[in-house]
Amino acid sequence: MTAALLARAEIRNLRPYETATQVLGNVRLNANEAPWPPGNDGGNGELNRYPEIRPIRLHLQLAAHYGVAAGMVLATRGSSEAIDLLIRAFCRAGADNVVISPPTFGMYRVYADIQGAQTVEAPLLAERDFALDVAGVLDKCTATTKLIFVCSPNNPTGGVVPQSFIRELAEARKNRSLIVVDEAYAEFSEAPSVTALLGSHENLVVLRTLSKALSLAGARCGAVLAPEPVIRILDGILAPYALATPVVDCVLRTLSPENLQASRDIMQRILRERTRMRDALLLCPEVVKIWPSRSNFLLVKFRNLSSVSARLCDKHILIREFAHEAALRNCARITVGKPGENDLLLAALGTVVEQY
Ligand code: PMP
Repeated sequence: MTAALLARAEIRNLRPYETATQVLGNVRLNANEAPWPPGNDGGNGELNRYPEIRPIRLHLQLAAHYGVAAGMVLATRGSSEAIDLLIRAFCRAGADNVVISPPTFGMYRVYADIQGAQTVEAPLLAERDFALDVAGVLDKCTATTKLIFVCSPNNPTGGVVPQSFIRELAEARKNRSLIVVDEAYAEFSEAPSVTALLGSHENLVVLRTLSKALSLAGARCGAVLAPEPVIRILDGILAPYALATPVVDCVLRTLSPENLQASRDIMQRILRERTRMRDALLLCPEVVKIWPSRSNFLLVKFRNLSSVSARLCDKHILIREFAHEAALRNCARITVGKPGENDLLLAALGTVVEQY
């Protein structure tokens, strides 16, 4: 059975909206577009025209970048939109559920709530540095579990899930659930992507984003990598013309070999800063624990987070607190910034700044 058959019946049978035909070089009088660009076009090209219904060149570039076949990619407005599409396509309101492993990225639950799908929790193992509890996840699955979200590296705990765990989940839930591995921070982990497993597990989906390692959060671009039947289902519900012309142009430029090299250099700088920040924070008397991080942030437990926050607030420095997560009491997620920004944080915490 193909995993696409797990999608809601009305989505499997959906007749997608028929957009106006786009043929290069033809006179376009079929889409009610303006014939002239706006006064403020600012060199952005033909903004009076709708973008491509699906950006073919971008799909080809993303496929090459992530090492999958072209039919296995769908570009979305950030990977957030991919989470939304998956839940809407696969979960019947009031009937189906998704399994998540908190503490983890909050949007899985939000989109499940919006769709009216239940969220079932199989918490990470706090006593084992927030490792994924594979047996716990499988235990929580029911006949109506359609999606299992695995975030690797996990936000906000920073750990990577071993590939053997993903294989085990995919095998155990074959024909029943999709395993959605959210690799938003994969580039920082230096661990191989589970994309390599897509060929052997038809119920595996990988989410990538250009918002982190490729520095493009403002462009809103992510990618779903999945077997073709699953991509076709998601493609059927993604809005036509979803990616704006300037966004597609900008992402294509970022994926050029020179710009990818520049992104790799930035990543290396972030990884060096991550080590420097970790070493410096460990000397801070306020710090109780820092979890091993395979991402661009550190999860730090403080003796008294509210006093730390007050001090940082005075200096206009923002960090992320998790007031509603019992497992993260007194913990904050600190993004690795530029050296100067990190110095400000360390100075505000009264920590000696070591330049490297
Ligand atoms: N997944 C994870 C784990 C994230 O942390 C984030 C953003 N913080 C996203 C997905 C969404 O990112 P975007 O929509 O920018 O691709």
